[in-house]
Amino acid sequence: MSNIIPQTIGQQYGRRSWAEPWKIKMVEPIRMIGRQEREQALQAAGFNTFLLRSEDVYIDLLTDSGTSAMSDRQWAGIMMGDESYAGSRNFYHLEEAIQTYYGYRYIVPTHQGRGAEHLISQAAIKKGQFIPGNMYFTTTRLHQELAGGTFVDVIIDEAHDPASQRPFKGNIDLDKLQALIDEKGAANIAYISLAGTVNMAGGQPVSMANVRAIHELCGHYNIRVYLDATRMVENCFFIQEREEGYSDKPITAILKEFCSYTDGAWMSAKKDNLVNIGGWLAVNHEDVFEMARNMVVVYEGLHTYGGMAGRDMEALAIGIAESVEDDHVHARVNQVRYLGGLLTEWGVPIVQPVGGHAIFLDAKRFYDHIPQDQFPAQTLAAELYLDSGVRSMERGVVSAGRDPKTGDHRYPALELTRLTIPRRVYTQAHMDVVAESVKAIYDVREQTRGLKMAYEPQYLRFFQARFERL
Ligand SMILES: *Cc1c(COP(=O)(O)O)cnc(C)c1O
Repeated sequence: MSNIIPQTIGQQYGRRSWAEPWKIKMVEPIRMIGRQEREQALQAAGFNTFLLRSEDVYIDLLTDSGTSAMSDRQWAGIMMGDESYAGSRNFYHLEEAIQTYYGYRYIVPTHQGRGAEHLISQAAIKKGQFIPGNMYFTTTRLHQELAGGTFVDVIIDEAHDPASQRPFKGNIDLDKLQALIDEKGAANIAYISLAGTVNMAGGQPVSMANVRAIHELCGHYNIRVYLDATRMVENCFFIQEREEGYSDKPITAILKEFCSYTDGAWMSAKKDNLVNIGGWLAVNHEDVFEMARNMVVVYEGLHTYGGMAGRDMEALAIGIAESVEDDHVHARVNQVRYLGGLLTEWGVPIVQPVGGHAIFLDAKRFYDHIPQDQFPAQTLAAELYLDSGVRSMERGVVSAGRDPKTGDHRYPALELTRLTIPRRVYTQAHMDVVAESVKAIYDVREQTRGLKMAYEPQYLRFFQARFERL
């Protein structure tokens, strides 16, 4: 497809290198503070990377949400904002971009992804209904529950196994889905909640064959399929690479085909769509559209801005077009895999295969001498910051919280530290720094001690908990 981005990591060594498909026009200076200052900053933050000041961070891999770099064209679009209350020209640009690239008929803008999740959940779920999906996402499931629904995970079993090398670990298990329909009755299924890629499974993709089969099965029962399109462009890359018949199709064609098997989508534009804020809901059926468009004026703003400024919608419309370019998508995913490739080569345990937006370090194997109640993933995030100023995030026992009945920690099977890569922000040289720092703390892992919790907030404790060294 593209002759500047290699198909495999191996081609990057020894022969012909590749480079990011952009050049830098404006820079934001960053600096690494000294070891002693990092130690102080970490102490002040209670060993929790959420409590660090971003100014004390050198390379920030906390999240890929709203952290992308916009292009010169998007910034030019910002200057073209039409801030009329109603009927802004930028809304029509946004509507056209979504219709062109995703192919849906009706568009409702929202301030970010969860705004769209709220609208679709309220419009399409009746109290007591079930919503089968391929692994939950935090805000998605919460909105489904608030609408009176019950989410049911019907992802394939391999999604829960960090060592399984299956190419499409985001797929829905059709037998599980059929069994649920048989058990509950088709009328009690609100819709299918399909996400591509699957964030909580490590950015694992869904195959075209799978969505086609879901579409067919649901067609029999008149059940609609809605897509969480947040990282769907990255999902298309994996289809192009791994699924037969798609290697010579551009990302735009794959995206259009995939969406054609679904009845609509909600979007956190802060991810794939290359903006710092924004979201949208898009549907093909007029009944849902009417309800959502009516509700958006209550919760977000008028139906031609939905919580975004005109300039935000313009940057988003341009961002959508840029996000589906093959060179961009290849560079994006291959940068993540470049980092994963180095760590794999050096024997550092990570979740395989590497997904589209992040590397997940397997802290249980990384610190196999630190018991889970001494927070190995939290320890890893703290040690990484201390070594190089790189900020990552815990996804393990701290994030899992306590069992409300017993009051004990929940001990999840996966104890992970996430390195999430923002889009178009860091170069390959930054990835080298990150990889070498992970390797450096891996080499001294046996001398590393775990942590104890010194302060524990009642809700979502991972955001504000504080720790001390053992
Ligand atoms: C971030 C995210 C959302 C929620 O979007 P916000 O813009 O953060 O409100 C929904 N689904 C997935 C998969 C996400 O990653």
